[in-house]
Amino acid sequence: MIPRFKPELGVAELRALLGPHPGAVAHLEQGFARKFGAAEAVAFPYGRSALWAMLQAVGVHDAEVIVPAYTCSVVAYAVSMSGNRPRFVDIRLDDYNMDLDLLAAAIGPATRAVVATHLFGYPLDLDRLTAIVADAERRWGHKIWLIQDCAHAFGATWRGRLVGQAGDAALYALNVSKMMTSIFGGMLTFSDPELAASVRRWRDAQFRQPSWRKPWFRRLYLAAAAAAFTEPVYGLTWWLQERTPWLDRLTRSYHLDDQIAMPPDHLDRMLDVEAAVGLVQLERYDAMIARRRANAAFLDENLRRRAGWVLPPIVEGATYSHYVVRVPDRAACVAAAARQRLHLGELIQYSAPQLAPYGHATSEHPNADLASRSTINVPVDAACNEARRGHIVAVLNGLAP
Ligand SMILES: *Cc1c(COP(=O)(O)O)cnc(C)c1O
Repeated sequence: MIPRFKPELGVAELRALLGPHPGAVAHLEQGFARKFGAAEAVAFPYGRSALWAMLQAVGVHDAEVIVPAYTCSVVAYAVSMSGNRPRFVDIRLDDYNMDLDLLAAAIGPATRAVVATHLFGYPLDLDRLTAIVADAERRWGHKIWLIQDCAHAFGATWRGRLVGQAGDAALYALNVSKMMTSIFGGMLTFSDPELAASVRRWRDAQFRQPSWRKPWFRRLYLAAAAAAFTEPVYGLTWWLQERTPWLDRLTRSYHLDDQIAMPPDHLDRMLDVEAAVGLVQLERYDAMIARRRANAAFLDENLRRRAGWVLPPIVEGATYSHYVVRVPDRAACVAAAARQRLHLGELIQYSAPQLAPYGHATSEHPNADLASRSTINVPVDAACNEARRGHIVAVLNGLAP
C-alpha cells in the first residue's frame, strides 16, 4: 500500500542509530542554523516544547497569543500550557494560511505574541505580517513577539527571503511525519544571538537529562518506522492504525487531540542519537525538497480538474509539506482510494478552536471549519518517484466523481 507520507530514511540514518554521538545536539544546532539562515538554533525534544519554552523564556504570561484556527492542535495546547490563552484567527481558503486582514483586526491590548504558521509550506506575506505586528506594537505600546511556525515550511521563502528569518524566532518540528526528522525533536532559530542565549539558558535550567532507556526506545522506534512506511509493510501498518486500537494506544501519550496535554517526556533534552539522525537528514534536505516541489508540480499538471475538487496552489518558495485537495465527499474518496491501496491523509481534520478544550462554534471560523471537513493529503514526499506518482495520479483520476 502507498503510504500517505513516507519519511526518507536510508542506510545513513540507520547507521546513525548505532553510535552514542556525544556532542551531536550542538552540531545539529549549528548545522541547522547555518542551513536555514539563522544566527543560532536551540534544540528541544518536541516542537511543542520549543514553543512552550519560548513563550516562558521571554516572559509572556497570562496574555493572549494569536494562532491560526487551522493548525496542529499541539500549537494551541503549548500556548495554553505556557499559562497563556490562544486567540484563533481564521484562515484563507486559497492557501490555508491565517487571513492577515483578520489578524490585523484581532491583535488587541492583551496580545503579546503571534504564532505565524506557514501551513502546508505556503509562505505568508512577510512584508504585510511584520508591518501588522509593528503597527500593533506602536498602537499598544508593548513588545509583541512574532514567532514563525515553520513546522511545514523548512526553507520556504517569501520573495526570495527565508520565512524563518522574519520576526523574533522560528519554530521547527522534527518528528517522522515532518519535512525532515530527528526521530522526534523541535528547534527554535534566532537572528538575535542575545535572545538565543537567553532562551538557551532558560532551556538548560528547565530541561533534564533523559533516562538511560530512552535512547534505546528511540532507536527502536525509528527502525520500526523505517520498516512500517515501506510499501510492502504499509498495508499492515494501515490496518493496525485504521482497524485496531493498538497503534493508537502506543502513540496516545504523544498525540491527544481532545485534551490539553504534553507527552510525559516533554521536558527532556534532545538526545544525541536524535541529533545524529537529524544531521544526516540535513545533508539530504535539498534533494528531498527538490523532489517535493517536482512532485507537487507533477500532481498539478496531471490531476484531472473536476467539479467540486479544489487543487492546492502552486506558489513560488513553497515547500509542500502536504499536497492538500478539497473534495466534496472526503470519506468516500479516502475509502475508494484505500481499496486501490493508496492511503490518503485527512490532515488537518479539525479546526483548532472547535477542539474540546476550546469549544468555539463552527460559525466563528468558517474557513477553518470547511477545510477541516474537506481536505485530503495526496502523497507528495520524496519517496514518490516517477512510478509511484504516476500510479497515484491514475488512482485519483479514476475515482468516481
Ligand atoms: C508538528 C507541528 C508542530 C509541533 O510539533 P511536535 O509534534 O510538538 O514536534 C507545530 N506546528 C505545526 C504546524 C505542526 O505541524
